[in-house]
Amino acid sequence: MSDTDDLCGEIRKSVLALCSGFPSRYWQKTDSENSYPTEFVEALSEAGYLATLIPEQYGGAGLGLREACVVLETMSRSGAHAGACHAQMYTMGTLLRHGSEDLKQLYLPEIASGKLRLQSFAVTEPDAGTDTSRITTFASDCGDHYKISGQKTWISRVEHSDLMILLARTAPRDAGAKPVDGMTVFLVDIRQAIGNGLTVQAISTMINHHTTQLFFDELRVPKDHVIGKVGQGFRCILDGMNAERILIASECIGDGRFFVDRAVGYARDRKVFGRAIGMNQGVQFPIARSYAEIEAASLMVDKAAKLFDQGQSCGAEANIAKLLASEASWKAADMCLQTHGGAGFAKELDIERKFRETRLYQVAPISTNLILSYVAERVLDLPKSY
Ligand SMILES: Cc1cc2nc3c(=O)[nH]c(=O)nc-3n(C[C@H](O)[C@H](O)[C@H](O)COP(=O)(O)OP(=O)(O)OC[C@H]3O[C@@H](n4cnc5c(N)ncnc54)[C@H](O)[C@@H]3O)c2cc1C
Repeated sequence: MSDTDDLCGEIRKSVLALCSGFPSRYWQKTDSENSYPTEFVEALSEAGYLATLIPEQYGGAGLGLREACVVLETMSRSGAHAGACHAQMYTMGTLLRHGSEDLKQLYLPEIASGKLRLQSFAVTEPDAGTDTSRITTFASDCGDHYKISGQKTWISRVEHSDLMILLARTAPRDAGAKPVDGMTVFLVDIRQAIGNGLTVQAISTMINHHTTQLFFDELRVPKDHVIGKVGQGFRCILDGMNAERILIASECIGDGRFFVDRAVGYARDRKVFGRAIGMNQGVQFPIARSYAEIEAASLMVDKAAKLFDQGQSCGAEANIAKLLASEASWKAADMCLQTHGGAGFAKELDIERKFRETRLYQVAPISTNLILSYVAERVLDLPKSY
């Protein structure tokens, strides 16, 4: 066993111990009240897990993506809803890789200590959808600052975050050599922005995800809060997307294992026609199939994370990992519900909640079709469809 495997085993044990302090009833309450799991996020921050990827020089753990994946997978497998805090792991990477040293010194130590939260990442717009090149939120150069106007949608955790990474246009779409030129990344201090050019409006959704619409009306952002080069923002964002996909895939693996664990337990215990339902192959086989699919997807997640940690290109692996893991977790959710019969619909078992939560990952942060299109055109060199 390697040192990394040992470390991952230790992380798994201690994250599980932390999660055991947040039992089923905690998640049922936050879900039914649509409230943010503040105590859980604080406990994770205090234990340093949300700073897993922040280098030691800025007060973080300085670990790799493999270890960060173990944190998210373990949370999800325990029954927790990792969506409340996963974004800090990957949004931070944009600041770390492309931010100025001054910005990093200003914010990373406080993010690492849990004093500040960087949980929001604002890209999606109502009229652009997946075609990010069509965003229209515009940042006008006003000398020592930018003024930002426009609208974003589906931006999560803004009301529970201090900072936000925002992608806006600084030049029109047709002004550059490529449609994705002319976009710039900004670090927005949400505490100062709300009421001063930023309005936040909650969107009611099928899961407890604290997602919102944002309206920008000449929001002032200082020039020293630009991350990376002006006009090159899309590249900065792309850089973090592989990490995001791999981390979300590990969350799906955790969800998938949660469903298999629950299905196995119920199939052993539940007696119908005088015997355990798990004695019927009609019940066993879907559980076994889900187990196999999750184990296979997990190997791809691990491969992608290793490549990422070695600094090698991993676009294909990250996308495939996210595709396979999100499909496997969704099939496992359906299997688990079916294994439980009517009981699966009872809120107290958490299955219906996790069923709703895991469904998101075939749509966000990138939908299954768009991943298939990436694999078809970028990996297999098929003709471009759009
Ligand atoms: C709960 C939730 C939280 C979110 N949080 C955030 C966040 O924090 N920050 C953020 O920036 N965004 C966030 N999003 C947005 C999310 O990333 C997008 O919903 C997702 O990328 C899909 O974009 P869209 O909804 O605009 O779908 P669209 O782009 O409108 O696509 C609709 C459907 O058409 C398909 N489609 C589109 N074009 C093609 C094509 N050429 N070929 C085949 N199929 C195609 C898509 O696969 C999709 O299934 C969140 C979304 C949700 C639901």
